[in-house]
Amino acid sequence: MADAAALLRVVGVRKAFGGIQAVDGVSFDLPCGEIRALIGPNGAGKSTFFNILTGQLRADGGTAVYRGRELLGLAPHAVWRLGVSRTFQVTATFATLSALENVRVARLSHVGRSRALLTPARGLETERSLALLDQVGLGDQAERAAGVLAYGDLKKLELAIALANDPELLLLDEPTAGMAPAERGALMALTAAIARQRHLTVLFTEHDMDVVFATADRIMVLHQGRLIAEGAPAEVRVHPEVQAVYLGAEA
Ligand code: ADP
Ligand code: MG
Repeated sequence: MADAAALLRVVGVRKAFGGIQAVDGVSFDLPCGEIRALIGPNGAGKSTFFNILTGQLRADGGTAVYRGRELLGLAPHAVWRLGVSRTFQVTATFATLSALENVRVARLSHVGRSRALLTPARGLETERSLALLDQVGLGDQAERAAGVLAYGDLKKLELAIALANDPELLLLDEPTAGMAPAERGALMALTAAIARQRHLTVLFTEHDMDVVFATADRIMVLHQGRLIAEGAPAEVRVHPEVQAVYLGAEA
């Protein structure tokens, strides 16, 4: 019997590119409400795994059951519709649309076309989109085109877009990539605060270990496509294989 508290149960997920086994039998349970980090050196398979979960890539094998539904094999929009939102390592916003329009597009796709055509719904979604921008600290940038936002603000916009789906599960692939160290910690702290307030479950990748240890309830370590450790931050920090493979490799 599956653990009733697990929002996501992943078993034996595999993906090869030619001769490279990018994801090599990944299995874990992610309980409701947990904020978990997936760490590992460049090329460990983190983005490939995220792409498999959200339908951008097809797995060679394995299952990923989310609230009783198999995610693997679904198209990205079907995964999104189930309440699984993600952000990408490389930003994916509409550059010529304003920050507000970017969030509104995501809101309207979430609430559905029929309701979205009704004028009152459109007004309501504008309000909700503005509230989301406020929540991520972009309230004063709402009318600016996404393409001219400062880099850190673009990452915040991506978070607002992901939240526009009213997700239960948030998958964040390097949500602070390219940001200054101080900004990284602040954005992840904000993300964690929003997640706790909304009772979201989060799986995120991040290279800054200080940010990982400060934000995650638990940490999983991926190395050459395999999970080599899982535990609370204090456990993972002293795990000999992790130190050898990952923390050592980072220096
Ligand atoms: P991470 O996100 O942990 O840095 P990736 O998932 O991006 O790792 O990459 C895992 C491995 O798979 C790497 O060896 C990478 O070169 C390879 N890889 C990723 N995407 C592709 C692809 N589309 N085609 C071929 N190889 C790929
Ligand atoms: Mg990656």
